[in-house]
Amino acid sequence: MKKKVSIIGAGIAGMSVGSYLQMNGFETEIHELHNLPGGLCTSWQRNGYNIDGCIHWLVGSAEGQSLYNAWNELIDMKKLQIYDHDIFYQYEDESGKCIRFYNNIDLLEKELLEKAPEDREVIRDYIHAARRFSSMKLPLGKPRELFTLKDMGETVFRLGPYLGLLNKWSKVSIADFAGRCRNPLLRKTIENLFVPEMGIVFVMITTAWMHNKTAGYPIGGSLAFSKLIEERYLALGGRIHYHSRIEEIMTRSDGSRNQACGIKDSQGKEYPADFVVSAADGYTTLFRMLKGRFVDSKTNAFYNNNLLFPSYLQLSLGISRMLESSASSLIFPLTQAVKIDPANTLSEIGIRIHSFDPNLAPEGKTLITALIPSREHKYWVNLRTDEFENYKEEKERIIRELVSGMEKRLGPLADYLEMKDLSTPATVIRYTNNWKGSFEGWIMTPSLGFRQLPLSLRGLDNFWMAGQWVSPGGGLPSALMTGRGVAEIICRKTGRKFKTESFNS
Ligand SMILES: Cc1cc2nc3c(=O)[nH]c(=O)nc-3n(C[C@H](O)[C@H](O)[C@H](O)COP(=O)(O)OP(=O)(O)OC[C@H]3O[C@@H](n4cnc5c(N)ncnc54)[C@H](O)[C@@H]3O)c2cc1C
Repeated sequence: MKKKVSIIGAGIAGMSVGSYLQMNGFETEIHELHNLPGGLCTSWQRNGYNIDGCIHWLVGSAEGQSLYNAWNELIDMKKLQIYDHDIFYQYEDESGKCIRFYNNIDLLEKELLEKAPEDREVIRDYIHAARRFSSMKLPLGKPRELFTLKDMGETVFRLGPYLGLLNKWSKVSIADFAGRCRNPLLRKTIENLFVPEMGIVFVMITTAWMHNKTAGYPIGGSLAFSKLIEERYLALGGRIHYHSRIEEIMTRSDGSRNQACGIKDSQGKEYPADFVVSAADGYTTLFRMLKGRFVDSKTNAFYNNNLLFPSYLQLSLGISRMLESSASSLIFPLTQAVKIDPANTLSEIGIRIHSFDPNLAPEGKTLITALIPSREHKYWVNLRTDEFENYKEEKERIIRELVSGMEKRLGPLADYLEMKDLSTPATVIRYTNNWKGSFEGWIMTPSLGFRQLPLSLRGLDNFWMAGQWVSPGGGLPSALMTGRGVAEIICRKTGRKFKTESFNS
């Protein structure tokens, strides 16, 4: 009889574990609290607009990279149309001066030297590292748990030439690196490359990927992308139970060892299984579904001491005219500051003009989105729960004030506004259950560097975790690769040779 695996969460990680296990002869079922696949990798429809809620770049989007080969096991990558941006983003100040952060390293170097010649040394450091990283080939991430001496050797061989730079720049945060700039425009441009607490090395590597055109955007958007993986999983014989919120991971003990033996949903229904994988939020998995019984002091300290990517509000506007811009992503000042919540007042805004994807707005019209980071998830959840009318009014106010604050830069918006939407941290928690509404799990800070969390728990057999909560930095590749890794470990445990099936192979 086939071994049965219960998987919690139909995000990219959960569907990845499920697909690889189906390829290897397991019977799997995914339980998902929402009614859609994808988790954070999602989109939603409003008034004829297809609001994208996730993918800015998909690492492994082009051939020649091991990650591309892994994606091609889940998605027919040849059929995916990829758009590569020329400009990562453009930062503009009050006087209209701007820096274009080009994805091509040569153009970027020229632009930065031209705009901030006094920061030649900082620019040289960034450009030198990004150029070096552009020839780095990542090994196909086998889980650490299965590493052999040969794998270690191969990793050292591949990464050896870059270790010095990786080590040096993983110890410097984006904020500290930006702090070296004398030119205020360059300082702000670098500060806003990603969350300021993250190691600068990760954006240097991103620049290298962008330069190589291996981190493009899949036309159609995030939900369409997630649905392709759902399609693959279902075609391989997997099953997804939507609207199925899991409350408990069941365990049994044979006296000396504890084993996971199934899951229980919010209706109290039990689903017995030989193995359980949680690809859902890490905090809920460890402290609620397993009631904290298998959290050792190291994991506890990790959850207490490390910094999460913040939660966020997403403003989405449908404008019934075309908006032209050479950079699709820009940050510029608002004409007046806008209070978002008790801890956040915006004086500038980062927007994305989605005209590069014709599927997101009706012809001749434009979808604009803006991500507004906020760690005020409690405020938003309480406001929504206790004062729903105020919650709605606050959202209306924020939309109104942001629209008005952007008009100086973007031209008339209010008169052309035919769709408006503001999701909040309460929305993120409601639909994905991510802890504190975080959008990517743990930040790779200088103190965390490249550290990964174990995929299993000491003291609990037949249980694994996959996804952004075991792989700091999160992201779609981590979801894919941790899912793949867990499937490989389960194959090893049951004496099977791990096999994969690619499209067009
Ligand atoms: C705005 C935004 C932009 C992003 N941009 C990028 C990008 O450009 N490139 C990139 O690589 N990454 C990006 N990311 C990050 C990326 O989307 C995530 O890191 C990745 O999708 C995480 O996948 P996951 O499967 O680990 O987790 P999730 O997507 O969180 O999936 C977990 C799933 O588990 C379900 N679940 C949770 N609890 C339960 C329960 N109790 N019972 C049943 N089901 C449950 C959830 O509903 C969810 O579907 C972005 C994220 C956001 C929000």
